[in-house]
Amino acid sequence: GKGLAVFTSGGDSQGMNAAVRSVVRMGIYLGCKVYFIREGYQGMVDGGDNIEEANWSSVSSIIHKGGTIIGSARCMDFIKREGRLKAACNLVTRGITNLVVIGGDGSLTGANLFRQEWSSLLDELLENNRITKDQREKYKYLHIAGMVGSIDNDFCGTDMTIGTDSALHRIIEAIDAIVSTAYSHQRTFIMEVMGRHCGYLAVVTALSSEADFVFIPEAPPSVDWKDKLCDKLEQERRSGQRLNIIIVAEGAIDREGKPITAELVKKVVVENLKQDTRITVLGHVQRGGSPSAFDRILGCRMGAEAVMALMEATPETEACVVTLDGNQAVRLPLMDCVHRTKAVAKAMADKNWDLAVQLRGRS
Ligand code: ADP
Repeated sequence: GKGLAVFTSGGDSQGMNAAVRSVVRMGIYLGCKVYFIREGYQGMVDGGDNIEEANWSSVSSIIHKGGTIIGSARCMDFIKREGRLKAACNLVTRGITNLVVIGGDGSLTGANLFRQEWSSLLDELLENNRITKDQREKYKYLHIAGMVGSIDNDFCGTDMTIGTDSALHRIIEAIDAIVSTAYSHQRTFIMEVMGRHCGYLAVVTALSSEADFVFIPEAPPSVDWKDKLCDKLEQERRSGQRLNIIIVAEGAIDREGKPITAELVKKVVVENLKQDTRITVLGHVQRGGSPSAFDRILGCRMGAEAVMALMEATPETEACVVTLDGNQAVRLPLMDCVHRTKAVAKAMADKNWDLAVQLRGRS
C-alpha cells in the first residue's frame, strides 16, 4: 500500500484529533500504510520514534479530546534546506510519499515548499548515498493535502477552520457565567478574546451574547469612539439594563493603528461613567476543553477528503487544502488560499481594511 503520514503543526486547536483519526482510518480503509509524525515538522526532521506506524485502534478514544495527541511544534530546522533534507530522508526510507498537514498558513507554506523541492532533495540524498537508486525512482513524487486548524477562523477559502466553533463555545460559556454575577452587581465587563488579525470570534461572540460594543482589527472605530461607547453604555443603563458587555479582540486597533486594549476601554468607562468595570482575558481557555460536535464532524469530513485527494493525485496535481464551502468539503489549490490569506494580512498592515474584508470573502 501507499505510504501516508499525518502530522499537526503550528498552534493547536480542538478538532485536530478528529481530523487525525479520520486520516488514519480512511487511509487504512483504502489500503495505505499510515504513519503518525509526532511534534510537527520537528518529528519529521528528527525521525526515529517520532514517525510511528498507526493502526485502527491507535486513534480510538481521541475524538473527544482537545488539542492534538500527536503533538505540535514550531520548528526552526524545517525552515532551512538542511532540515528539509533530513525530513525527506526520513520519509523516503519509510516509503512515505503522501502527507496530510494540519496547521495554519505557515505550516501549509512549508509543506508546499517541501513538495516543490522534493526532486532536488532526493537527488542530493542519492548523491550522498543516503537513499538507493530504487528509492529515488520509486518515491519520486510527493503529494500534499492540507487542512486548517485554527481557532481564529482566519484562513481564506474556508467558511470555518477546525477549532473555531469549539472556541466560541468556550467563550460563550464564560460570558454566561460572568453575566450572572455582573447582573447582580450592575457591573460593566470587558472581555478580551483571541484574534490578532481577525475579529471573527469577537463579532460572533458579541452577537450571541447581546454585547453592547465590540472592537475588532478589521473595522477600527471612528476617532470619536470613546464618546460613542460611553453614550451607548449610558443609554442601555437608562433603559433599564443592569449590566454592560464589551468585547475586545486582542488585535483591536483605532484608525491610526494604535491598539485598543481592554485596559484602555476600562479606563475610558471608569473615567467617564464611574461604572464598576471588570476585565476578563480568556487566553488559552479558548483553545482548551473538548471539541464541539461541529468541529469533530468537520475534522472527520476534511480528513476523509484529504486522503481521497491524495489517492487521486497524479504527478501533476498541485498541493491542495481541504476547505468548507457552503457545508461541502472541497479541495482548493493550497497556495492560492495561502496567498489570499497573506494578502489579507498585508491589507491590514497597510490599513486598507475594506480590501482585507473583501479578500476574506468567498472566492
Ligand atoms: P502556523 O502553521 O500556525 O501558521 P507557523 O507560521 O509558526 O504556524 O508555522 C509552523 C511551522 O511550519 C514553522 O515552525 C516551520 O517549521 C514551518 N514553516 C512555516 N513557514 C515555513 C516556510 N516558509 N518554509 C518552511 N517551513 C515553514
